[in-house]
Amino acid sequence: MGRLFGTNGVRGVVNRDLTAELVVKLASSAGSILGSRVALGRDGRTSSPLFKEAALSGLLSVGCEVFDLGIVPTPVLQYATKYFNLDGGIMITASHNPPEFNGVKVIAGDGVEVPQTVEERIEEVYFKGGPELAPWYRVGSLHDLHVLESYCRSVASHTDLETVRKAKMKVALDPGNGVAALVAPRIAQELGCEVYTVNADIDGTFPSRDSEPRPDNLNSLSTLVKATGADLGVAFDGDADRAIFVDELGRVYWGDISFALVVSEFLKKHHGEVVATPVSSSKIIKDVVEDHGGSLLWTRVGSVAVSRTMVEKSIKLGGEENGGVMYALHQPVRDGSMTMALILEAMAKKEEPISRLFGEFLKYKQSKVKVPCPDTLKPKVMEKLESSLEAESVEKIDGLKLWYRDDSWILIRPSGTEPAIRLYAEARDEAKSLKLIEEYKKIIEETVTKLNGCAF
Ligand code: MG
Repeated sequence: MGRLFGTNGVRGVVNRDLTAELVVKLASSAGSILGSRVALGRDGRTSSPLFKEAALSGLLSVGCEVFDLGIVPTPVLQYATKYFNLDGGIMITASHNPPEFNGVKVIAGDGVEVPQTVEERIEEVYFKGGPELAPWYRVGSLHDLHVLESYCRSVASHTDLETVRKAKMKVALDPGNGVAALVAPRIAQELGCEVYTVNADIDGTFPSRDSEPRPDNLNSLSTLVKATGADLGVAFDGDADRAIFVDELGRVYWGDISFALVVSEFLKKHHGEVVATPVSSSKIIKDVVEDHGGSLLWTRVGSVAVSRTMVEKSIKLGGEENGGVMYALHQPVRDGSMTMALILEAMAKKEEPISRLFGEFLKYKQSKVKVPCPDTLKPKVMEKLESSLEAESVEKIDGLKLWYRDDSWILIRPSGTEPAIRLYAEARDEAKSLKLIEEYKKIIEETVTKLNGCAF
């Protein structure tokens, strides 16, 4: 049987991989599995109205009662699904992908993306030609649902409002022409901040920067921070579930540093709690968790793996190095605005510039690379590697993670989406992490060549 779902829902290039016909059938298949009351939302991409109407038709054709949220961030749809006790949700978004992409995220009644078992059930219905359609007198109904205000209040209420408001901070926000523009400025204002914005008009062509915020594309935010004397800069991805931060000097930090700050403040309030993070995350997270008397649970790579683990084990905090933080007291899924609020709360409590707060966690250097490897050879390459490993300890949660005595590590992981093996290495200095990468890159290339029986 074919697969529709990748690591984060169904994604593809508009009118090439992802067509209205596909989305109608996918939504009707999903509707037949999720239940009768379903939330529907979309991001600001140019093709999102097209796919939203397709999803709506699919859901109505199997008799679903559809609650239309309009243009919303993904975490808002997830919040609404849970808050209104709906049976599930469908979000039309391709998150941080380029503008020619779009996608469908299917959300379960608990607000988290459906687990793989449910994806497979939906695919089964889809590949059988779609579900049985409802007779005319049972086709679904449509209601508008306004949830932005309630969502914004919920985010603000999960901070120490009095302390944050008293700090009267200045923040610069960069939604990157994505849907964070609908909530982040409002929440920052609710938190008593003076707010400045750049790229805050929703535009599905993403004219200003890639919709994935990275250190190399946040120049306008850094400039805004410096020009306004802001205490903090925040950049969001296209569907506002991830946030990346800029300090008062205009410097950009990766998500593991901001997550480390969230973890340290969380564990001061919630003693001895468990924190979940993918096995690819920086060791700084392990250090911070241990320093604050908590315990760390490594998960498989991918936000759904973290969120699903959190729900299963009632874990209150999770996070990824790409700027996705899951704060279950609000909701156990990535939420860029909630992450922003938690960082502002930490700043207000510590009364120190963000550069100093983040600076404490700059202990390790991470390097990454992809090594080409045909899908068919992946299991054999991994098997060969496993039989010849030398390390202090080996973790096999997702791929192979080798730990060394000097706190350095390398993770070797077959990509779920490309014919490649991904390498992530980390050490106290960059030379060491690059050395680890080079060493294993060579081993993998040689193994692939041998197994292929041809020169690389
Ligand atoms: Mg996203």
